[in-house]
Amino acid sequence: KSESAEEVKEMKKPKIGYIHLSGCTGCLMSLTENYDLLADLLDMVEIVYGHTLVDVWEMPEMDLALVEGSVCIQDEHSVEELMEAREKADLLCALGSCAMTGGFTRYARGGQQAQPSHESFLPISELVKVDLAIPGCPPSPEIIAKTLTAYIKEDMDYLKPLMDLPK
Ligand code: SF4
Repeated sequence: KSESAEEVKEMKKPKIGYIHLSGCTGCLMSLTENYDLLADLLDMVEIVYGHTLVDVWEMPEMDLALVEGSVCIQDEHSVEELMEAREKADLLCALGSCAMTGGFTRYARGGQQAQPSHESFLPISELVKVDLAIPGCPPSPEIIAKTLTAYIKEDMDYLKPLMDLPK
């Protein structure tokens, strides 16, 4: 039985997960600041995992994992979540400076007692292979929207430089 156009459209929506590690939620806020585009963007994808954009705690197979924040190696849940995302996502994207470099989490917590030391917050590439990165702290709403759109449209001319960034 052949699918209707609507069903085919549904089937082709990339499945995206939003993994929130040690970040300030600024990257997510920036994504949602695409006021005019957000509804269209979210309509072109299926958010299948996350605790912020959606309330889904069991991680399925995904086409793309967006990872906000650095990974705290003293937090085994974060480490496991990142490893699971790498296993289940075809493409894994470091969203923002914290995920790319350790960012502010690497420097801000050193003086606080009972907090993991700053050396515990690592760029996610120290634990998993990262396929592309969206730079900025936070990345601008525009670059997030452009990158997601390029991903959906398989625009490799736009994506390639982001795949080549040191991360
Ligand atoms: Fe927050 Fe900037 Fe880190 Fe994003 S990159 S989580 S905005 S500190």
